[in-house]
Amino acid sequence: MSQNVRVRFAPSPTGPLHIGGVRTALYNYLFAKKHNGTFILRIEDTDKNRYVEGAENYIINALNWCGIPFDEGPEKNENCGPYRQSERQSIYRDYALKLIETKKAYYAFDSTTELNNLRKEEEKKGETFVYNWRNRTSLNNSLSLTPDEVANKIANGEDYVIRFYSPSNETLELKDLVRGVITIQSANLDDKILFKSDGMPTYHLANVVDDHLMNITHVIRGEEWLPSLALHHLLYGAFDWDTPKFAHLPLILKPTGKGKLSKRDGDKLGFPVFPLEWIDPHTHNSSRGYREDGYFAESMINFLALLGWNSGSEQEIFTLSELVNSFDLERVHKSGARFDPEKIKWFNHHYMQKQSTQHLGVLFKNSQDELSEVSNQYIEAVVDLIKERATFVTDFWELSSFFFVNPDTYDAKALKKTLKEDTFDLMRSLLIVLNTADAGSKKAIEQSVKDWILSKNIGFGRIMMPLRLALVGALKGPDVFDIIYMIGLDKTIHRINKFITKSNT
Ligand code: GLU
Repeated sequence: MSQNVRVRFAPSPTGPLHIGGVRTALYNYLFAKKHNGTFILRIEDTDKNRYVEGAENYIINALNWCGIPFDEGPEKNENCGPYRQSERQSIYRDYALKLIETKKAYYAFDSTTELNNLRKEEEKKGETFVYNWRNRTSLNNSLSLTPDEVANKIANGEDYVIRFYSPSNETLELKDLVRGVITIQSANLDDKILFKSDGMPTYHLANVVDDHLMNITHVIRGEEWLPSLALHHLLYGAFDWDTPKFAHLPLILKPTGKGKLSKRDGDKLGFPVFPLEWIDPHTHNSSRGYREDGYFAESMINFLALLGWNSGSEQEIFTLSELVNSFDLERVHKSGARFDPEKIKWFNHHYMQKQSTQHLGVLFKNSQDELSEVSNQYIEAVVDLIKERATFVTDFWELSSFFFVNPDTYDAKALKKTLKEDTFDLMRSLLIVLNTADAGSKKAIEQSVKDWILSKNIGFGRIMMPLRLALVGALKGPDVFDIIYMIGLDKTIHRINKFITKSNT
């Protein structure tokens, strides 16, 4: 790519960042990095009514947690800043006025009541009211009023908006890097508001002006913005600016494949739809986040990368730098991507194995009160033995409590299956073997016990099953000799004794 690639992620701080937003940010990041370009964060906060406190911080924390930080954005390399639209407010009016000068936009004074009445009238006829070339010259605006009337209204402080003057009869050929060429008849467009009576630009004007001023080369955003593409395309033309390239990403669908995955689905469907936990500043209600639910950022990134894109190969596991190398917009899918909460668990299991034992040890220790006095070295050795069976750090205790505390009870079904007439006698004999075994290595212990079993000429299960029950309380867990070696012979003997007394009643 000869051009210096500049892309932006442009969320509105109206609440926590949905998982779909994280994917949009990720694809922008991957595309930028692949082309040695710049990834920009722009906060689109022109709609005061929808502004939610804490949302901007949340967005920044989420990008940082995911490991996809922006290069330019609020408080960071502000070359084209400021990057909050609320701080750019003074810029937009001039651009709206420029369009009025060139007759690409006009003032409109129609009140909300007038517009509502027009809407109702059309509804009665079974039609929808559209403000455009069909009716604009007969509505309350600078196309129907004289210049003096317009000037007077403005001088008298009457509320007005600035609307775009959509062409009545053009065939627009819009190029999208994901969807190819989309043809739109301008006759069907409405004259969208560009500038509002509260002195703020609408999304459309601010978005296009900022993309231009920030030298954005590629606009990569969700499919829900596709209907705005025609207007944005026309706005670039109206300003006589180069149009960036566009790529609209497919929707993320519910696990059933039907309907868009919404912010509310998290609570309903039992899995998080946000990267981080979110506490609503007003209601104080909390929504679950992937981070707090025990997912690793790598799992989230790998999972989201494949939610709407494929590399063209069978490969599923990608590091971030592999994603950067393989990513291209041509392989982004057109159709919606079904969200599969089981798949991200699968990734988490994989990335669990890639974490350093030290890191997992710390996470485990911090998550479990019983471990506060246990040495890190011991915890790490346990983690190494069990992590293969775990998807989350929160699975660790269930998988390993017997390394730290004696079992209190024995699984009833397992007892029934295990206990034979001579089980307790055999356990007593085993105690003698263990009393004299060399505790120095797992191998030495294993050798003594196995030699003894062989000498008795009985099946291994006759010993190993009750032994496991005595140590673990159930027929589960890693290799029995790993457990014995870790807890030591004294504790092993104690547990076997307890087993004999407790179950032999
Ligand atoms: N502010 C819009 C949003 O919240 C940005 C859309 C775009 O990327 O153009 O998603």
